[in-house]
Amino acid sequence: MSAYDFDLFVIGGGSGGVRAARMAAQRGQRVALAEVLGTDGLGGTCVNVGCIPKKLYSYAAHYHEAFAEAAGYGWHVGETHLDWATLKANRAQEIARLNSVYANLLSGAGVTRLDGFARLVGDHDIELATLHADGSPGHQRFSAAHILIATGGTPHVPHFSGREHVITSNEVFDLEPFPKRLLIVGGGYIACEFASIFNGLGARVTQLYRGEQVLRGFDDEIRHFAAAEMAKAGVDLHLNAGVVDIRKTADGLVVTCEDGNTLTVDAALYATGRVPNTQGLGLDTVGVAQGAQGEVLVNERYQTNVPHIRAVGDVTNRVQLTPVALGEAMVVVDDLCGPAPGKAAREMSYDFVPTAVFTHPSIGTVGLTEAQARERFGEVTVFRSEFKALKHTLSGRTERTLMKLVVDTRSDRVVGLHMVGAEAGEIVQGFAVALKAGATKAVFDSTIGIHPTAAEEFVTMR
Ligand code: FAD
Ligand code: NDP
Repeated sequence: MSAYDFDLFVIGGGSGGVRAARMAAQRGQRVALAEVLGTDGLGGTCVNVGCIPKKLYSYAAHYHEAFAEAAGYGWHVGETHLDWATLKANRAQEIARLNSVYANLLSGAGVTRLDGFARLVGDHDIELATLHADGSPGHQRFSAAHILIATGGTPHVPHFSGREHVITSNEVFDLEPFPKRLLIVGGGYIACEFASIFNGLGARVTQLYRGEQVLRGFDDEIRHFAAAEMAKAGVDLHLNAGVVDIRKTADGLVVTCEDGNTLTVDAALYATGRVPNTQGLGLDTVGVAQGAQGEVLVNERYQTNVPHIRAVGDVTNRVQLTPVALGEAMVVVDDLCGPAPGKAAREMSYDFVPTAVFTHPSIGTVGLTEAQARERFGEVTVFRSEFKALKHTLSGRTERTLMKLVVDTRSDRVVGLHMVGAEAGEIVQGFAVALKAGATKAVFDSTIGIHPTAAEEFVTMR
């Protein structure tokens, strides 16, 4: 019998933590998982205030386009309006359902679920801050052979005059009342997605980004094209722009911009990045090394400098995507339990991680940008196709689609595939398999298209 209470103690019930706890328990480990928000927090950022509610709101916003487009197809839709209260209530109900699905998955696998804030108090010791039945604070102590930190991240808002008046993505889903005039600051995934979502839901959206073009890190042509399409759809996007001060008045929030202009809005959403959740975790107590943003530093097996303490997901401040946190968790499980029967131990590769930005139109991308490919391979061949989707020949919508392939000229391998257009995430997921498998442009050329689709353009570019 082990000297510890548990074989594995997981801190954080989000994407990475739940996956690791569940899979390790299914393989016979004695596992505990602590989540500070209790059942309501299960699923973490993704389920509660991230991917899932965001995608549901994106679907809601698309109806606005669909109603407008229907006339060209002979449908008379009549008056439409958004019932924001219904959308929020239905979203909350679905999230609550998912929270209980996660709770059931954990108990079904035999994981001991603990509600409370966990912190490290010794090499193998964890203290859980809980509440007694009468509401007074209490503490419980546990020991574990292995500890996994999967505490995620939290929105970061820079310091400026009026900071107390702004909200983050954590609060945006439940805004009351609906913000008819919304300011969004930032140019990353969250800022761009919510700019499109609230524009589609009927808000007047002003987006301010401090740099030359939004979505730094994406292919330059894709960035420019997506920003132009978002603006065409109604987002009032200002580049090289920022906020100096926000004041609350009877008419709303008065925002003074760096160029001296002012605007009045009902709400101001700051989407200016996220920082790792490591405050109060007791990392210095046990000597776990951290980086400049507080992120937990790990090796390729997700071990910290204290080898039986590991970390996965956003708390390591690397690729902040749910499927990446899940993949990292599986590496940890294989290390602790041995690989699944008949399988090799999992490795995590950060090459060809596909991703989508759920703007309107959406962006899908996998592999290298054109600039990265030129730097790595020298000579690259670029294929691009820009067109109006068949749907919009009758819908009257002027939205355009861009697809782009980046090919290493010497090997003929397709090293980057990018798209702006409807269902970009759905399309790029399939092509990611081809890129990962090392498909050449010749293989793309010999693949028969599915007609009529937008996706077939990727195999017909010459
Ligand atoms: P989290 O999911 O954040 O889970 C961490 C959990 O730990 C939380 O539940 C927290 O309450 C708990 N916790 C923290 N400290 C403690 C403690 N001391 N004790 C106990 N519990 C603690 N990714 C995608 O792939 N696709 C998307 O479309 C997408 N959309 C997003 C939209 C938004 C608005 C945001 C904010 C993120 C989005 N992401 C998306 C990113 C994705 O949500 C994260 O990468 C993912 O949730 C990271 O999982 P994690 O397990 O590392 O952390
Ligand atoms: P990002 O890092 O993507 O973007 C942050 C943005 O804020 C950047 O445009 C950055 O500008 C800007 N910024 C940073 N600091 C300041 C400041 N002090 N003043 C003004 N602007 C500032 O973070 P997000 O918060 O958008 O999202 C966090 C992560 O969550 C993403 O990176 C992604 O991994 C994940 N996510 C994934 C989604 C998906 O898969 N669809 C959706 C949403 C989130 P600059 O570029 O100049 O640094």
